[in-house]
Amino acid sequence: MKKIKSKEYILRIVLNSTITSNNKKMINENSIQVLRAGLRGKIIEPHDTGYESSCKVYNGMISRHPRMIVQCADVADVIRSVNFARENKILLSIRGGGHNAGGLGVCDDGLVIDLSLIRFTRVDPKARIVIAGGGCTWADVDHATHVFGMATPSGVVSSTGVGGLTTGGGLGHLTRKYGLTIDNLISVDIVLADGKFLTADANQNQDLFWAVRGGGGNFGVITAFTYKLHPVDMLYSGPMLYEMSEAAEVMKWYRELIKNAPDDLNGFFAFLTVPPFPPFPEHLHHKKMCGIVWAYTGPVEKGEEVFKPIRAFKKPALDLVGPLPHPVLQSLFDGLLPTGLQWYWRADFVNELSDEAIDKHIGFGKTMPTELSTMHLYPVNGAASRIGNKDTAWSYRGATWAMVIVGIDPDPANNEKITAWTKDYWRALHPYSAGGAYVNFMMDDGEDRVKATYGENYERLVKIKSKYDPENLFRVNQNIKPVNVQSQKEILI
Ligand SMILES: Cc1cc2nc3c(=O)[nH]c(=O)nc-3n(C[C@H](O)[C@H](O)[C@H](O)COP(=O)(O)OP(=O)(O)OC[C@H]3O[C@@H](n4cnc5c(N)ncnc54)[C@H](O)[C@@H]3O)c2cc1C
Repeated sequence: MKKIKSKEYILRIVLNSTITSNNKKMINENSIQVLRAGLRGKIIEPHDTGYESSCKVYNGMISRHPRMIVQCADVADVIRSVNFARENKILLSIRGGGHNAGGLGVCDDGLVIDLSLIRFTRVDPKARIVIAGGGCTWADVDHATHVFGMATPSGVVSSTGVGGLTTGGGLGHLTRKYGLTIDNLISVDIVLADGKFLTADANQNQDLFWAVRGGGGNFGVITAFTYKLHPVDMLYSGPMLYEMSEAAEVMKWYRELIKNAPDDLNGFFAFLTVPPFPPFPEHLHHKKMCGIVWAYTGPVEKGEEVFKPIRAFKKPALDLVGPLPHPVLQSLFDGLLPTGLQWYWRADFVNELSDEAIDKHIGFGKTMPTELSTMHLYPVNGAASRIGNKDTAWSYRGATWAMVIVGIDPDPANNEKITAWTKDYWRALHPYSAGGAYVNFMMDDGEDRVKATYGENYERLVKIKSKYDPENLFRVNQNIKPVNVQSQKEILI
């Protein structure tokens, strides 16, 4: 006990000797040693082996170099790291799964709280809940819950982190049936900017619980998420592909179908290029097509019957829909999208898909610049739309779809090409949109877009931010500025 006290004493002294040089914070080496001694996890600094690979996030387009990466092993490590960043006045970023498009899990010259070691899960099958550590990926959660024949709504790629996806909202195959991921969030354990730890749920710290359901990583470091589970085991699901020449007809049919579909039926629309390997037949390889990725959450044995009218509408060029275990559906695209590809994203919410908008979509679908580039329309209607806009921070419950346009390629030489196509596509379709965009599909869109996205909820988010993080310690995110730092520049990365 004495030893710990003296360490904290030393910490205070050395922190006071932090100096600034060339506008970069120079942190006293001793203070880093003291932090290191107090951790169960480890600190990775620029001179350490593995530093370069630890700086990398999922999007290969992002290149940032923090002063240190703290791989936290537990809540105590997170508290110490938050205190260290605040006391040293250095930039802080929170890294969950590292999937964020804009690379918001990593920062230049600051401290990265890397949660990848905090990946525990605990399922209570009787209570139908799962508790997941703040650094889990969805693969970790699906693995833990599937043996019990249960799942909670998440996204469509299993390597995505629970941290970023949940705090931004969470759209996926189960959205129409069970709502957004946040609609299934029961509580969070969170470390605040002042280093305090608390639990937020429907009964305690309700304002914070409201804000973390859509407000991103603005409010603290979430070390554990507790989710509601549903009986989800085998789903009649998978992709159906159609010729690009049929895209207008397919989009118009899909638009009506999804608006009126029962909650059990989820399907997101996509433009894509067919990958050159099985299960895709050779005659379709490298072909630009459109498709719908279906997920039927009703009884799997009823799937054939439910899909009769879908198959009757038009024979798909490829029909891969059938019974799939939930984790298989969740990881269907993981292999296609390994870490390190170049990604450029733009997004919008969409209420109506007019014939005119469809024409424009098809023009860009036909000119996808690379084989991995794509456009998705994720339905938001169904169960997600029956929660009020003001019930959580996520304020586009009335939208029919969340649209995302993504230029993707392994080769950085194509960055200009994928970026230009994405921006042109977005500019052409933005006039047909609902205004804001899903925060988790945004990249470097700026403050106005963040405000547009939160709409009427923005002011309340500012109030809650001002209460829990008045100095904007957590600002490497789609930032909601507290009142006393309203003049602070855009995201400081
Ligand atoms: C291939 C791919 C597929 C995707 N599919 C979907 C999808 O189907 N549905 C969907 O909704 N989204 C999807 N997304 C978007 C995804 O939700 C966001 O990119 C999200 O930010 C990723 O979370 P992460 O933890 O992996 O990210 P990170 O880069 O680690 O973190 C992103 C942000 O989240 C915050 N954060 C992360 N963890 C925590 C935590 N524990 N506590 C507090 N804040 C935290 C941080 O502030 C950080 O700013 C996809 C992204 C990719 C790259």
